[in-house]
Amino acid sequence: MVKKTLKALGIALALLIVVLLVKTLTYKTRQIAVEPLAPVALSDKCITHLSEAVKIKTVSHDVTTLDSAPFYQFQAFLKQSYPLADSLLHRQCINKLSLLYTWKGKNPALQPLLLIGHMDVVPAENGGGEQWEFPPFSGEINNNAVCGRGTLDDKVNVIGLLEAVEMLLKEGFKPERTIYLAFGHDEEIGGEKGAAKIAAYLQEQHVKAGFLLDEGLVITKGIVPGIKKNVALIGISEKGYVSVELAVETDGGHSSMPARETAIGILSEAVSKLEKHPMRSQLSAPVQRFLDYVGPEMPFLQRLAFANQWLLKNLILSIYEKSSNAGNALVRTTTAPTLFKSGTKDNVLPGYATATLNFRILPGETSDDVMAHIRKTIKDKRVKAKKLPNFSEPSPVSEIDCPEFACLQKSISQTFSNTIIAPSLVLAATDARHYSAITKNLYRFIPLIAESDDLKRIHGVNEKISCSDFLNAVRFYRQLIINAQ
Ligand SMILES: [Zn+2]
Repeated sequence: MVKKTLKALGIALALLIVVLLVKTLTYKTRQIAVEPLAPVALSDKCITHLSEAVKIKTVSHDVTTLDSAPFYQFQAFLKQSYPLADSLLHRQCINKLSLLYTWKGKNPALQPLLLIGHMDVVPAENGGGEQWEFPPFSGEINNNAVCGRGTLDDKVNVIGLLEAVEMLLKEGFKPERTIYLAFGHDEEIGGEKGAAKIAAYLQEQHVKAGFLLDEGLVITKGIVPGIKKNVALIGISEKGYVSVELAVETDGGHSSMPARETAIGILSEAVSKLEKHPMRSQLSAPVQRFLDYVGPEMPFLQRLAFANQWLLKNLILSIYEKSSNAGNALVRTTTAPTLFKSGTKDNVLPGYATATLNFRILPGETSDDVMAHIRKTIKDKRVKAKKLPNFSEPSPVSEIDCPEFACLQKSISQTFSNTIIAPSLVLAATDARHYSAITKNLYRFIPLIAESDDLKRIHGVNEKISCSDFLNAVRFYRQLIINAQ
């Protein structure tokens, strides 16, 4: 009997190994074979233009205090630096400070291409006591890099696109399909007055775009574990955003005779429960697609795991959960306590305490799921939870089995040799989300090679871009416009 059981187990195990191996060996690459193009020559003016653009302090702090003067100055600078784009394209100011350029295509039957970016930047304080190597708005060109706030986020995009368009205009290029360049002025504070208004205008004009490209993920160097080559990540969805306020009201009173449970104590326990019991981890559609694209490029053991997600999904999930904060954020709706308020005096028991938690929602879940999770986890009727306004659900997941994604893939491969391309999930919010009524193919990607240190400079100190990286970005945009025809 024992012998028979062992034999049966042995056969089952052998079969399992065969299935795992077959799945691994037939796990086929999603990369396309494309010859890289010889880099086109670009003028040094591109670099000076980016440096000039950085000098204009287009800072967006918050909606009420936005200073419009630098944005008008930025508009004048673009007019003067890109005379062909200014005269040959139809240029409109939307809501005064945002810009929309229309480059009419020869074939009105083709769906337009929408290339977007933002002109505003975050303020440039000295982060954590560290000093900027050069003043953040000096646009200093040093050691073959343009330095300053906005070089990576997002003037590389705005200036890169305009350089590419100006160059194509000079070459006499005439697009088949209409191209829109849309530049918002308030992305860093939500995009409600900029991108949202441009999108509303386009919708009024019944524009349906073939695809949209916005900032987002980058070409990572040494960041995707197990892959030596650079990996270009294209954001095909972004997480949702909701902040929830928890409030506790009790009797308060004198601190010499405190009740067994106080407002602060009850609230602290609720926050602690939420932190200890986050929402469950899962492989959302964009992350699943990411695995499908990077998996076949991995060394054997990892390839085996990725090719057999039907069996090893939980192992993959736990690796991501434990790998880093970013890895964890890729596989679950995150919980971040951000505000905690209570009390007025050291000997007075406050009758009221509030805490705010910010959740970034994984595609496939909603802000209502977050609320349900909060109630279920806290299980305390004394803690009232309220969804704060300005929340957004996760964006729909863009298609990847389509000519539009292939066009993007090809343009990246032509400009950046030896690069793996993979769709992925954007953890932060971008302007792209405002355009979901205009196209279902929204892609979020900046043509920049970045290591983890470079990523820290975005919104941090010493933001800068190497001149060669910027020129490659211009080449990429130029190639994308050509390929999109
Ligand atoms: Zn940005």
